[in-house]
Amino acid sequence: MIFRQLFEPLSSTFTYLAGCPETGVAVLVDPVLETVARDLDVVKALGLTLGFTLETHIHADHVTSAARLRALTGCKVAYPALDGIEGADIGVGETAPLRVGNLTLQPLFTPGHTDNHHCYLIERAAIEDGGAARVLTGDTLLIDGCGRTDFQCGDAQALYKSVNEKLFALGDATIVNPGHDYKGRLETTIGEQRRANARLGGGRSEEEFVAIMAALGLPYPKRMDEAVPANRRCGELETNLSGK
Ligand code: FE
Repeated sequence: MIFRQLFEPLSSTFTYLAGCPETGVAVLVDPVLETVARDLDVVKALGLTLGFTLETHIHADHVTSAARLRALTGCKVAYPALDGIEGADIGVGETAPLRVGNLTLQPLFTPGHTDNHHCYLIERAAIEDGGAARVLTGDTLLIDGCGRTDFQCGDAQALYKSVNEKLFALGDATIVNPGHDYKGRLETTIGEQRRANARLGGGRSEEEFVAIMAALGLPYPKRMDEAVPANRRCGELETNLSGK
């Protein structure tokens, strides 16, 4: 597998590129509008063709570049099917994985940050270097933390269950690639997070976790009112729609 972790500094978002070396087809997971040119340059420099974009969830902190990338490259736009996005080309889910050439991104239904959030597991078999499996955890599991659960149908109990039943059930060596990091960290493993994640690790109870999340008192996301409706349109902005 060809794999790159790309960073967008305004929202501290990670976009992931996964490419199939045999077919030259690639997917960009959670691509951001501000970094379209950079992301396309990376795809091109690796000799790949962008076949798909894929979202972990409907983001509140940035606008996806899915529609822009589709207009520029003809790629297909994939979203969790449960989100019911009208403009999406492909709906993925646990019984409907995304195949990118010979790679498979296996969706894991992980509600909690949003009600329809999915993580994507890339199985070990797809990884040429013989290394561990890799899971793109979106905003469900972050390095030493997790996504907030106080808006967009978020639910701390659901997130606790998603992490414990779906993510901590993966092998210890599974590499965790989060949707954000605000401190310059890049990746972690399931084993490290199960042991030491400040909110969810060390065998924390659901009750303790729910109390931690309830006490966070986070500010309203700056771009939420723009980003959520735009992301429900695959990233088309109002200004584009009205032709302004
Ligand atoms: Fe999010």
